[in-house]
Amino acid sequence: VYNFSAGPAVLPVPVLEQIRDEMLCLPGAGASILEISHRGGPFTEIIQSAEANLRKLLDISDDYAVLFLQGGSRLQFSMIPINLLGEGQSADYILTGSWGKKALQEAQKEGKTRVAFTAKDSGFDHVPAEGDLDLDPNAAYCHYTCNETIEGVQFAGEPDTGDVPLICDASSDFLHRKLDVSRYGMIYACAQKNAGPSGVTVVIMRKDLAERSGDNLPSYLSYKNHVQEESLGNTPPTFGIYVVDLVAKWLLNEIGGLDKMFDRNKAKALKLYDVIDAHTDVYKGHAQPHSRSVMNVTFNLPSDELTSRFLSEAKKHKLDALKGHRSVGGIRASIYNAMPIEGVDALASFMTDFAKSC
Ligand code: PLP
Repeated sequence: VYNFSAGPAVLPVPVLEQIRDEMLCLPGAGASILEISHRGGPFTEIIQSAEANLRKLLDISDDYAVLFLQGGSRLQFSMIPINLLGEGQSADYILTGSWGKKALQEAQKEGKTRVAFTAKDSGFDHVPAEGDLDLDPNAAYCHYTCNETIEGVQFAGEPDTGDVPLICDASSDFLHRKLDVSRYGMIYACAQKNAGPSGVTVVIMRKDLAERSGDNLPSYLSYKNHVQEESLGNTPPTFGIYVVDLVAKWLLNEIGGLDKMFDRNKAKALKLYDVIDAHTDVYKGHAQPHSRSVMNVTFNLPSDELTSRFLSEAKKHKLDALKGHRSVGGIRASIYNAMPIEGVDALASFMTDFAKSC
């Protein structure tokens, strides 16, 4: 079955095979990854390797800390303002979809916010064009979501926020291409799309920003604390970190780095968008063409009845989890890094046949 789930999602087969082979006994540990101490030698090697491999993939400099946290990206929605939004300051939010809206709602509970851009009126179908942003030059930070998983809307590059630290929710396209990390104050991503299993969230943060954390915060909520403790202030999500390391190694050694991964991802997405564009009487892409996501391809059919038929026939062709998010309906094909080209070919060919049958 080809699994087009938006997350938790597909993992690379060689990574799954290695997990299976090492599950009972991690080489050098004499026990399972599920059984070893987070303070012992074997796990120390794993967490250091995961960090080093992420640094290698994204060219992350020593000015940035790499953290492995729990609580999903949702906890980041709150930790960001709790740590980085000082008394009397305001934070800017760029809204291109449902997750950005949720991040804003959580921040509003913690302090003052502004909306620097919203695509709500057009149903979140595009990213801002140059000149569309209404930025506050004194903002504590500016937050955006580089890939909106639900709407399938993605930035091709980062917005320019000048000296205001840019914070990116990269949950659904982390590691799908190379980023210029130096342009960001912070990048965060729950792992369960491109980087590993649910339960671990990667945070890449400029170390000077972590210094903003107040001293009286609950220790788990303090970035400063996590940086000082190197993610080991409490028991970290050990299994998740182990898998992130395996995925990073797969990207480095089998794929050949993030530029190669991006080439593959673009080729996969193009196949699906080509079918959508060739059958506009049946498929209506949600995102405007310049904002189309390489990770989550979203489209609608003319009626609920056709949508249900599409989903049930797709299932018979072993094409699974294509139902759009419950809040927007339609179809969503999530084609993360680990989705093989064969899966996309199978879906593209099914879509073409289905359109012809309508
Ligand atoms: N942000 C984006 C862009 C997402 O796609 C998701 C989950 O799908 C989240 C945030 C929330 O992540 P979590 O469920 O790990 O809190």
